[in-house]
Amino acid sequence: MTQTLSNLIDGRLTAPANGRYLEVFEPATGRCYALAPDSDSADVALALTSAQQAFPDWSQQPSTERARHMNRLADLIETRLEQFAQAESRDSGKPLQLARNVDIPRAVANLRFFAAAITQWASEAHAMEDRALNYTLRQPLGVVACISPWNLPLYLFTWKIAPALAAGNCVLGKPSEVTPLTAQLLAEASIEAGFPPGVLTILHGSGAQTGQALVDHPAIKAISFTGSTRVGAQIALSAARQFKKASLELGGKNATLVFADWNASEAQLDTIVRSAFANQGQICLCGSRILVERSIYAEFRERFVARTRALRVGDPLLPESDLGAVVSQAHFDKVMGCIALAREEGGRILTGGEAVAVPGRCENGWFIAPTVIEGLGAQCRTNQEEIFGPVVTLQPFDDDAQALALANCTNYGLAASVWTRDLTRAHRVAAGLHSGIVWINCWMLRDLRTPFGGVKQSGLGREGGVEALRFFTETKNVCIALDP
Ligand code: NAP
Ligand code: MG
Repeated sequence: MTQTLSNLIDGRLTAPANGRYLEVFEPATGRCYALAPDSDSADVALALTSAQQAFPDWSQQPSTERARHMNRLADLIETRLEQFAQAESRDSGKPLQLARNVDIPRAVANLRFFAAAITQWASEAHAMEDRALNYTLRQPLGVVACISPWNLPLYLFTWKIAPALAAGNCVLGKPSEVTPLTAQLLAEASIEAGFPPGVLTILHGSGAQTGQALVDHPAIKAISFTGSTRVGAQIALSAARQFKKASLELGGKNATLVFADWNASEAQLDTIVRSAFANQGQICLCGSRILVERSIYAEFRERFVARTRALRVGDPLLPESDLGAVVSQAHFDKVMGCIALAREEGGRILTGGEAVAVPGRCENGWFIAPTVIEGLGAQCRTNQEEIFGPVVTLQPFDDDAQALALANCTNYGLAASVWTRDLTRAHRVAAGLHSGIVWINCWMLRDLRTPFGGVKQSGLGREGGVEALRFFTETKNVCIALDP
């Protein structure tokens, strides 16, 4: 049976004003199983009125009150973890165990983290000896928009909504139309958690229509966006015209640097394989260019390819599936096109390179074998453009300088990982990498207090910890003469 989703406007589940809906597909089966509102500017206008009415009260509540609402919401999600995880897996094609162990627990953690953070947040004072005292106020902006992508749906949606709400803003959130299901469950839970109407609004719809209407609306004070570099550039243009704050978390082409002295244990190899193929390679932080010191290249390649071949691609609901389906027909076509391009560019496919047929329930699903390619130059399109699928390349390097040059030679700069037992080298290479995040001998180990974001075309601004709270507030300096 097809499920029909609703917007959350003014504290109520609401049908779109235009009565139109978008089809939502299950990647593992290729079938449409839900309809999501195709919201437009009329829904944005309704939502804004309610959010603007809610703002004065919400922003003036003590931070402990706002934290209490957020913790209640976190508790409700945790109680329904299995329902949320099933929905996330079904909606995105990701293995259920990943949704259960990572995505949904992280959404709960996001809410709890910012609920706690806001009660601990302090601002600065600058004393001018006995002449004057300056103190800094950080005040909420008003109504803000949070727009998130399909790869980590609830995880990234809450990563934006939580600091925005904690800081005292009212939020209009738009999940990706490709994966709207957990946002619907979040809407239902937020009603039960007792959020005042208008504090949290969820609008479903397409990026071009609903998303753009949010971005362009002059009453929306800030845009927090995670998604592609192409759309990020469009949003930056629109925001610039209105002097609107924009935080942009965009694409990546991350490098994994493996030095000859890496800790060559099975556990570390497993982590590198996971960093390449977790969530079918559809994590902005996945390492898609694996750079290996020449003296160990052949041996590393053999181990890496063998481990990749052992990954099981299958029904995301089954516990034995390491990889599920990619998110949509369009994305399947894009990734398969990238593999074809790699072949044309002269790449050798060491494993994978084709679609995977999963019989039974999943026979029409969008499955791709984890793919390892070698023999391509650093400047070819395969090594320059984001693929965002289970596809990685291997390239050898001779020394630290060449490793850094290769790592830094794309327009992106989100994350990198460095694998070495030489601490001096690790620090030197970390300092030389053009990226916002560097992991040494680990990957995706996340402390929510740390700044998160990219350089170059991977984004503008940082999320996480106080960076997010700063983004969602306006800073004001107050100067008091002490002896007027
Ligand atoms: P996308 O097409 O840019 O979409 C992201 C979000 O923006 C979706 O909600 C989308 O809506 C919406 N959108 C599309 N066009 C819009 C417009 N003109 N105005 C306002 N909103 C618009 O990206 P995606 O394909 O969903 O996600 C994959 C990309 O996200 C990859 O490039 C990946 O690297 C990046 N990403 C970055 C990070 C990070 O932290 N840096 C994290 C995760 C993913 P619809 O989907 O409904 O069209
Ligand atoms: Mg999209």
